[in-house]
Amino acid sequence: MIKIPTRVLLVDDEKDFVEMLSLRLQDAGEKVTPAYSGKECLDTLKQIPIDVVILDIKMPGMDGIETLREIKKRFPLVEVIMLTGHGSTETAVEGMKLGAFDYLMKPAEFDDLTAKLQAARKRKDEQEERIRKAEATLLVRKAGGIA
Ligand SMILES: [Mg+2]
Repeated sequence: MIKIPTRVLLVDDEKDFVEMLSLRLQDAGEKVTPAYSGKECLDTLKQIPIDVVILDIKMPGMDGIETLREIKKRFPLVEVIMLTGHGSTETAVEGMKLGAFDYLMKPAEFDDLTAKLQAARKRKDEQEERIRKAEATLLVRKAGGIA
């Protein structure tokens, strides 16, 4: 089966971390776009289609939680996986209540990350499929058919 790459936006203020993880994800067949701040993340989402955002919570300026709020407000179908530090489980819980798909504690195991990435991608695909079906039903109704 041909793997369809997940379009990942990787957001973290630590440049080395972003570069290293981008390479690994690309080797695993994903399409990765890097961003180094909350603002850059939101600007990128306006410009290119993204399936999943991997979002660092601790960033200078606009932090991860603030960025997450904006993502969910403006791009509700984009899934978000948060990267949290030790002792920030409360923040992770807060993020999930705001609509994040899941979280990973830094330093995250690559296998855990890819597993959560696939699960997030699956949820987005399924949600988009439900929307397509609902739209098709709506069209049939408007055309006067039975739906
Ligand atoms: Mg950080």
